[in-house]
Amino acid sequence: MLPVAFVQDKVAAHRESIIRFLREICAIPSMDSQIGPVGERVQAELRALGFDEVRFDKMGNTIGRIGDGPKTIVFDSHIDTVGIGNPDEWGWDPFEGRVDADGRFFARGACDEKGSTPGMIYGLAIARDLGLLDGFTAYYFGNMEEWCDGIAPNTFVEVDPGLRPDYVVIGEPTKMQVYRGHKGRVELQVVARGRSCHAASNHLGDNPIYKLLPVIAGIRDLEPQLGDDPFLGHGKITVSDLHVNTPSINAVPDEARIFVDRRLTFGETVEGAIRQVEVLIPPDDREAIRVEMLFYDDPSYTGFVYEVDKYFPAWALPEDAPIVRAGIETRGLIGLPPAPTGKWNFSTNGTYWAGKAGIPSIGFGPGEEETAHTVNDSVLLADVVKAAEFYALLPGVVV
Ligand SMILES: [Zn+2]
Repeated sequence: MLPVAFVQDKVAAHRESIIRFLREICAIPSMDSQIGPVGERVQAELRALGFDEVRFDKMGNTIGRIGDGPKTIVFDSHIDTVGIGNPDEWGWDPFEGRVDADGRFFARGACDEKGSTPGMIYGLAIARDLGLLDGFTAYYFGNMEEWCDGIAPNTFVEVDPGLRPDYVVIGEPTKMQVYRGHKGRVELQVVARGRSCHAASNHLGDNPIYKLLPVIAGIRDLEPQLGDDPFLGHGKITVSDLHVNTPSINAVPDEARIFVDRRLTFGETVEGAIRQVEVLIPPDDREAIRVEMLFYDDPSYTGFVYEVDKYFPAWALPEDAPIVRAGIETRGLIGLPPAPTGKWNFSTNGTYWAGKAGIPSIGFGPGEEETAHTVNDSVLLADVVKAAEFYALLPGVVV
């Protein structure tokens, strides 16, 4: 029998600390993958709660470990956020935030996804105190995700600490439900080469923007033909940016490129997705236009470089996978009303944990995905606290 009431009492006793901690980490900006200062603050909390190991990894993510048992579980919470956009669109300071009459806290990162960090950290400390982590090596992993989902977990497994967990819980917003997958994606570019000349003599040039027109139109009309899956939904494709190399706006450019965001459902491969765009190129332009997958090789704020494809596979665990069932059971133990398992529309670090590495992973966190990246980025504080009960009890259920 798990000491559910004990856990709930312990969480209730820490309610004010959990909320204060959330507000403090939201008050520290962590945009553009700059997670050093917020990591310091998180690590102070980890030390105060007596984690066995607290440090930055090589990439600059925060690692907090409890125990050294044979089973390894990772609680993954990204602590970077997107920018704030136009400050005038916020009716409040996006970092200080505000709490409304319903106890909903609005701030950049509140939902996506600093809101899961306090519950994970307090949950793990409470679980340890009650002996619920016996036999486990349990990690809190506060990482950077917004610029390249999956890269931080990829380095966790292959570089530092260089181990493959048995289970992962992703704290992206799930409305306090258990999520078990999402679509994959790939970022592509289509580059057309042309011949530059003065616009007054454009007949001497070859305009690469015009070469791309049939490709752009083909992409616009392609979506109905993309793959479909009953759980993950339909594939999507979007021309998301356009760049031109031109000596002047009075010249024919020499190069034009579009960027394509492609969301992959089950049954769609990266090779197939590239081929679907390649066949849109008119036969006469096959030499002048190429379709390429992008790579991510930006250095992290610590200067760490780890090159990865910008291909992120789709993943979904079956409803009866042990970690999914454990999540459902844990929800029941803490009194959350029955709810179907779900999926995210957006992409998460699950692309690596489950998609590339095949590690059983679920999502559980406070907040609604719909408010992420908007000025309404928010969570119910009651859910932030309640989530700690889930994180504390899950390891004892999954064993
Ligand atoms: Zn997120």
